[in-house]
Amino acid sequence: MTSAHRVLVLNSGSSSLKYQLLDMRDGSRPAAGLVERIGERVSRLVHTAPDGERRERTAPMASHEAALKAVAAELAADGLGLDSPELAAIGHRVVHGGLRFTEPTVITDEVLAEIERLVPVAPLHNPANITGIRTARALRPDLPQVAVFDTAFHTTMPEYAARYAIDTETADAHRIRRYGFHGTSHAYVSREAARLLGRDPSEVNVIVLHLGNGASASAVAGGACVDTSMGLTPLEGLVMGTRSGDVDPAVTFHLRRVAGMSVDEVDELLNKRSGLVGLCGDNDMREIRRRIEEGDERAKLAFDIYVHRLKKYIGAYIAVLGRVDAVVFTAGVGENAAAVREAAVEGLEPLGLSVDAELNAVRSGEPRLISPAGARVAVAVVPTDEELEIARQTYSLVNN
Ligand code: AMP
Repeated sequence: MTSAHRVLVLNSGSSSLKYQLLDMRDGSRPAAGLVERIGERVSRLVHTAPDGERRERTAPMASHEAALKAVAAELAADGLGLDSPELAAIGHRVVHGGLRFTEPTVITDEVLAEIERLVPVAPLHNPANITGIRTARALRPDLPQVAVFDTAFHTTMPEYAARYAIDTETADAHRIRRYGFHGTSHAYVSREAARLLGRDPSEVNVIVLHLGNGASASAVAGGACVDTSMGLTPLEGLVMGTRSGDVDPAVTFHLRRVAGMSVDEVDELLNKRSGLVGLCGDNDMREIRRRIEEGDERAKLAFDIYVHRLKKYIGAYIAVLGRVDAVVFTAGVGENAAAVREAAVEGLEPLGLSVDAELNAVRSGEPRLISPAGARVAVAVVPTDEELEIARQTYSLVNN
């Protein structure tokens, strides 16, 4: 093995930059942090150093370039600078890889141009990712940089699952199809679930429920995704923190024609003011559970709508897969909200699904089974780790 054994993972949002430095020899994470409010009057950087010390800085950072330079300075102060010979590569999270990028890809000028060509299908996400890549390449032009795509894991979906039933020419002209997102998480969690069952991923069929502020479900057969709930954009599918998930597309025409809303207003309504927050004013499941305990009916209805949609997708993916070995919960809500897990499988005993109340109540950061011993279908909680997955994919590409 070469002496370069660290990978820096960058996740650039429109006004944020998250980072983690991973040591691929021992799995440790010497440093991590976040810059928020890039481009605003005051930006904030929170850095965790190798000894666990948290350093916080506020300063104006006008651009991702300024933010990454500030991050590089923090890393350098810990002896982990971007010029360190131990840094093997930088792995970038890229939301949309279209149909072209089915695998992690070393970034060249040509690859970057292709990611830019995908901006029309991912106008909210890819521009920030591109800015992060440009900035990092300018700082370390000689270092291998790898793009890891949120859509890549879903490119194995069969055509009948990926296509919408709309006019083919129109769909093709505008690259309209179901791409799916959160793929890095679905890939990691479905593989870890197989490991938890003590089996090879190629042998098991798994339903993964990634329930964070964004939420998506996937059906994974023998390690390959065969269906997922997000579509052309991350708006389709499950009820989320602020997104509606599935609605009749005619709702959008209706809002345009009858309520006089502009396309941007409808976009903002469905992406930012819908889902749990639109239903009850809160998108944090802890707060919703607290309100339900106090007898709040709006919170209860929001919870019931959330769970009903989830249950419909579980049922649909059991039908898609035929045989299911495990249903796996992950991300902020999936890992922490026992009440959601319990409600999602309630009444599904005839399909072989149930949770053991005691196991479900356990709080832990470890992958674990929560179904009763001997259950026909395992129900599990597997904490997701997108940074580790990005680092692994990046490292395996540059280290062979
Ligand atoms: P993520 O996007 O994966 O970071 O998930 C964020 C969401 O997880 C928050 O909006 C909360 O709804 C939910 N969450 C985090 N911690 C808990 C918890 N202890 N109990 C219930 N929900 C939680």
